[in-house]
Amino acid sequence: MSSPKPVHAPQTQFPVVDDCLQVGGIALTRLAQRVGSTPFYAYDRALLTERVAHLRAHLPAGIALHYSIKANPMPALVQHMAGLVDGLDVASGGEMKVALDTGMPAARISFAGPGKSEAELAQALAAGVCVNIESEREIRILARLAQETGVKAAAVVRVNPDFELRSSGMKMGGGAKQFGIDAELVPAMLVLAAAAGIDVLGFQIFSGSQSLKADAIMEAQSRTVELALRLAAGAPAPVRQLNIGGGFGIPYFPGEQALDIAPIGAHLAQLQQQVAAALPQAQLAIELGRYLVGEAGVYVARVVDRKLSRGQVFLVTDGGLHHHLAASGNFGQVIRKNYPVAIGNRMAGGERESVSAVGPLCTPLDLLADKMELAQAGPGDLLVVFQSGAYGISASPAAFLGHPPAVEVLV
Ligand SMILES: *Cc1c(COP(=O)(O)O)cnc(C)c1O
Repeated sequence: MSSPKPVHAPQTQFPVVDDCLQVGGIALTRLAQRVGSTPFYAYDRALLTERVAHLRAHLPAGIALHYSIKANPMPALVQHMAGLVDGLDVASGGEMKVALDTGMPAARISFAGPGKSEAELAQALAAGVCVNIESEREIRILARLAQETGVKAAAVVRVNPDFELRSSGMKMGGGAKQFGIDAELVPAMLVLAAAAGIDVLGFQIFSGSQSLKADAIMEAQSRTVELALRLAAGAPAPVRQLNIGGGFGIPYFPGEQALDIAPIGAHLAQLQQQVAAALPQAQLAIELGRYLVGEAGVYVARVVDRKLSRGQVFLVTDGGLHHHLAASGNFGQVIRKNYPVAIGNRMAGGERESVSAVGPLCTPLDLLADKMELAQAGPGDLLVVFQSGAYGISASPAAFLGHPPAVEVLV
């Protein structure tokens, strides 16, 4: 008895007209001409807007939704997102600049990440961006800079929780971590920060990323609120901000299914009441990257060669891991699996065949599809990698092997 082979979740967000994928309402072949070169990333503006609307329809009113720029820092996309969300989360001085350029009020931009430089902290203080404090060193530098410049420092303490998000693709809290301040050390840090004249507005607690299990996310959210209430009891000032992280995933690989947001929204409504009762001044927030932008983007490469090697068909494209490390399986995956891939100008196509799609790099790691059933294709056709709106070009080693960079468009 064999169980059915797991398949990719259907990619229905992009319509197909005359067998050609449409991105941003434009046929992919035409979009490729408009862009002027391949490979490119295309992000669909309407899908970004729809995704935020879908989420808001399930979230309780009054909860703040933040976009984590790290997932996709393309300035035009961040500008679009800034008009849809309540805040932007940045993780470097460079991202802070992109966020400030959107016109988002600085107080609704927060800056997290280990090892912030003195220059970055000074930049944040001058701009009025909220620093998520992750060490005693950051408290000391921020306090000194505030004194030197006469600007009052307001900050949030990022907490490394004493638990983690079960079943997350990337664990970013719990145990020994470089992120945040260990929960058990937070009370002492709050005293230190207050003594140094820093107004601690509240907490950010982020426990993990890329989870497709609503139960696991809800459990982590409950434990996060529990921890925050415990920490708030010893805080010198009332909690005004409480960011409970995110971790919402999107389906990438065969067998994975879209996250069900409805129960998470209902659960957040309960948590919101609990927080309102205990911390009446607190603004509750969640921060999401990939969930907001990942499904709205495709990576498009042109097939330049078709080869047959000992019975295996290879489509050699002009794009690869130097633009899209994650799709090649080399960005944190333990076992390589295929992203959803199609021939964008032959969505149904005629004959289908098992092919491997590779890039032009001289390394076997440069693999975009490993023995996938695709429409028969050859030079000139457009290979599309779905689920590419997050952790794409900015998370790839563009300089590796010296090929030209990919273009990005928002359509
Ligand atoms: C990376 C990161 C996020 C975004 O994670 P996604 O999986 O893209 O949603 C949110 N918050 C913090 C603190 C992060 O480091």
